Amino acid sequence: MAELTRALPEPTPETRDFWDGTAAGELRLQRCDACAHVYFPPRPFCPGCASRQVSGFAASGHGTLYSYLIHHRPVPGFTPPYAIAVVQLAEGPRLMSNIVDCPQTPEALVLDMPLEVAFQKFDAQITLPVFRPARAR
Ligand SMILES: [Zn+2]
Repeated sequence: MAELTRALPEPTPETRDFWDGTAAGELRLQRCDACAHVYFPPRPFCPGCASRQVSGFAASGHGTLYSYLIHHRPVPGFTPPYAIAVVQLAEGPRLMSNIVDCPQTPEALVLDMPLEVAFQKFDAQITLPVFRPARAR
């Protein structure tokens, strides 16, 4: 019988620095040294201009709720209903994640609401970035 745990990502050479970052409490992105384009997911060249001169940096962890859906079917490792969200990061890229510390309802999940990153450690290799409503600053 299959184990009822959440499927986790497998780090690759391209994503190793990203996963080392989340384990250290940082959301790491990459920026092109040639055209300044900031992108995600990690790759060794700029998707904007194909330059291989790219640098990693720690993002602010701030973003907004770009889109989401509420999933109602049971999936190993998740308790439905839960939101699968697209987060618009302050630095430009979007990434898929989950929203935590918030009711998983359309009333609570308001598009463009300010979010901040939080980190959920699963094992020695994988700490997932998730997002929660931003605290008042
Ligand atoms: Zn570029």
